[in-house]
Amino acid sequence: MNKKKPEIAQIFLSPPHLTGAEQYFIQQALTSNWIAPLGPHVDAFENEIVDYVGGGEAVAVSSGTAAIHLSLALLNLEPGDKVFCSTLTFIASANPILYERAIPVFIDSEPDSWNMSPQALERALREADQQNTLPKAVIVVNLYGQSAKYAEILALCQHYDITVIEDAAESLGATYKGQASGTFGRFGIYSFNGNKIITTSGGGMLISQDKAAIQKARFLSAQARDPAPYYQHSRVGYNYRLSNILAGIGRGQLETLDERVKKRRTIFATYAQELSALPGVHFMKELEHARSNRWLTALTIEEEQAGLSPGELIAGLATENIEARHVWKPLHLQPLFKDARFYPHEEGRSVSEALFECGLCLPSGSNLSSDDQARVIHAIKRLSHLSGEKRVKSKIG
Ligand SMILES: *Cc1c(COP(=O)(O)O)cnc(C)c1O
Repeated sequence: MNKKKPEIAQIFLSPPHLTGAEQYFIQQALTSNWIAPLGPHVDAFENEIVDYVGGGEAVAVSSGTAAIHLSLALLNLEPGDKVFCSTLTFIASANPILYERAIPVFIDSEPDSWNMSPQALERALREADQQNTLPKAVIVVNLYGQSAKYAEILALCQHYDITVIEDAAESLGATYKGQASGTFGRFGIYSFNGNKIITTSGGGMLISQDKAAIQKARFLSAQARDPAPYYQHSRVGYNYRLSNILAGIGRGQLETLDERVKKRRTIFATYAQELSALPGVHFMKELEHARSNRWLTALTIEEEQAGLSPGELIAGLATENIEARHVWKPLHLQPLFKDARFYPHEEGRSVSEALFECGLCLPSGSNLSSDDQARVIHAIKRLSHLSGEKRVKSKIG
C-alpha cells in the first residue's frame, strides 16, 4: 500500500534552546502576579547583562530593533541627517534610521571579518567632511558573532567625533581584545529574538557607559511620561519596555551563555574540519585577538571550483529537511534603499556583494546534536560529490 516515507526531522538554522531554568523565573513572575511591564526580573536581567559584559548601564526593551531606534532617538536627529551603517547585515540595523527620517549611507565589508571596512569608512568620512555632511552616527554590525575591526573604526570615528552604535545583536558573548562585544560603541545593542544565541522569545537591550543617556532611553521607552502628578508628555515616546515574564526567560538563558558560545564554536570547528577540503569552500575567518561566538557557521563556496552555487546547495539541503540560508543580502542592494549612497571597500570592488554571491550559513543551533550535524555534513559532501561527477561527465561527454 501507499506507505508514506517516514518524515526525517527538520534541522533548523538556529532554533531556541531552553535550559530548564526559565521555568523557575517564569513561575516566580506568575506567583508574585508580576507579569506586567517592568518588575524585578527586568531590573535583575539588566544588572546581570551589565555584570556579564563588564560594566555600564542597560535598559531592557522589546527587541533589538527597538534598542537601535532608542540609541538614534537619543541623538536628536534632524530629518535629512546622515547615518552610516554596515551594508552586510539584517534590515533591522538600518530600519530605525528611516524611523528617524535620517538618510542611511552604506559602508562595505572588508574580507577578513566580513564587517565594516575601515578603508571604505575612511573614504566616506573624508568625503562627508569635505561636503559638510558628516553623519550623526555610525552603526557598526558584528556579523554572525564576529567583531568588526574596532581599533581602526573607533580611531576614525573619534577623529571626526562621530557616535558609534554597536549592533551586537548577533555577537553577545564574543570578545575583541578581551573586551565584551557590545561595549565598544557609545551605545551597544543586543537582541534576544528567538534565533539569537540566547532568547527571551523576543526582546533586546541597550547598553552604554553613559548613565544619563540610558536614563533618557528608559524614559523614551515608556511613552516619555513627564514627572507630573498626571499623564503629561512633552515629546514623542515609545512603548518599548520588556515584560517581566520575558525578562525572567532571559535570566534563565543568560546563566548558560558561556556554554552556548562554547557549543557554537565546536559546531563551527566540526564543520570546518569536515568540509574545508571540499573544492572552493572557505570558512569565515576569525580576527586575531578576537573570539567570535560563532552564532552562525558561515562559509563561502566558489561555484567554479565547487561545481555548485550556494543557492543549489541550499536547495539540495532543503530536500533533506535541512535549513541553510544565504548570507544577508547587502542593504545597498535592497529595493528599499535603492537610492542610498554606498562606499565599496575599494573603488570597483564590493566585498559584501561577493560575499552575498558565494556565502551561506549552516545549521548552528546550540542544541544541534552530533548526529544531526553529521547528517548535514554528509548531505553537503554528497551534493558536492554529485556535482563533481556531473562535471567530469560533461567534460568527457
Ligand atoms: C536580529 C538582529 C537585529 C534585530 O533584533 P530584533 O530583536 O529581532 O529586533 C538587529 N541587527 C542584527 C544584525 C540582527 O541580527
